[in-house]
Amino acid sequence: MIGTFFSNACIVFTLMVIGFLPYSRLRARRLPTTLDRLLTGLAAGVMGVLLMLYALPVPNSKLILDLRHLPVVTCALFLGPSASLVAGLVEGIGRVAIFGLNQTSLLAALNMLLVSAISPILARIKRRLAIRVLVVNVYALTQISALVVWLMPTHTQLAWVFLTYWIVSLAAGYGSAWLMTQLFAHFRRQRELEQMSSVDFLTGLNNTRHFDLVINELAARAATGTESLSILAIDIDHFKSVNDTYGHPAGDAVLQQLAEVLQTCTGSRDIVSRNGGEEFTVLMPASTLIVAQEMAERIRATVERRDFLLPNGESIHITVSLGVACLPESTVDTSAFLQLADDALYTAKKRGRNRVCIASP
Ligand code: GH3
Ligand code: MG
Ligand code: MG
Repeated sequence: MIGTFFSNACIVFTLMVIGFLPYSRLRARRLPTTLDRLLTGLAAGVMGVLLMLYALPVPNSKLILDLRHLPVVTCALFLGPSASLVAGLVEGIGRVAIFGLNQTSLLAALNMLLVSAISPILARIKRRLAIRVLVVNVYALTQISALVVWLMPTHTQLAWVFLTYWIVSLAAGYGSAWLMTQLFAHFRRQRELEQMSSVDFLTGLNNTRHFDLVINELAARAATGTESLSILAIDIDHFKSVNDTYGHPAGDAVLQQLAEVLQTCTGSRDIVSRNGGEEFTVLMPASTLIVAQEMAERIRATVERRDFLLPNGESIHITVSLGVACLPESTVDTSAFLQLADDALYTAKKRGRNRVCIASP
């Protein structure tokens, strides 16, 4: 008996972990949609049907005992009514389809549907998770036990069966909730780390590491001749004097506002990065040299006009110098591409700053 419930619990834990992997990838992009919830409910329902195949048959009856309520209450606790209702429905259909259309099967199916409808309501009580897990599991177990007692009032061994069933079910219920919170926390931390490794903390732009990955990928594509790639190398003019005059926090505020300007000026396909200090780049996939030059000029003029607000309430004006290069118009050598843009930027600095220079092939 304990062995049956134990193998049921093992199936629940194993399938939860496996089922969480594609789900976590969905969550990496967005919050769970209704479709995500319905699909998770479907998967949970299938899990419940699988648990029935490893159930404990109650002697002299058509009754079986297993942990099929766990996928349903876990859906109710973590995903809400749509997921739990689908899980309950799939389990109900599975119960009748596999064990035949009889009074016991029908009542068991209806019973699970009721659990799937009431659990999400109980799961919403404003208490900490441990209490909600207890409330929802005790409710589900009470309802299941009541049905069994009603169908088999004279079974002599029922007390021992129930004692074992309740203990294992409650332990597995807490185990499932613990596993879910651990999985959510693990994948949330992983996403945060992924983000931290590619985002510049000050400006929210891509950092150098991410820039390196993207430029290599885009340059390789440009080298095949399918799509050109342009780059703008941008550097603030005399930025040291901003720091020296107004302080480092003021310099940081200017960097953040310049990041906003770059994001506003550029298109959705362009990749804006902070490549360290006060140096930025814009990668422009599928853009010719002339398009990139126009973008560079637009950025230069916007920065020149804009008021940059400092933490002390003052506003200042800054200028930027830009170097522009394009694959394959400036060079076909992907490794020289970035250097050409930097050289053009250096030329812009030498020629008096606040200007755009095009890389000479
Ligand atoms: P140029 O016109 O030749 O580019 O002159 P510049 O003063 O901008 O150039 P330089 O490279 O001499 O100075 C860059 C300054 O950028 C030095 C440093 O204090 C500042 N800087 C680098 N990173 C940060 C940062 O994260 N925050 C702030 N506030 N300043 C930074
Ligand atoms: Mg500078
Ligand atoms: Mg610099």
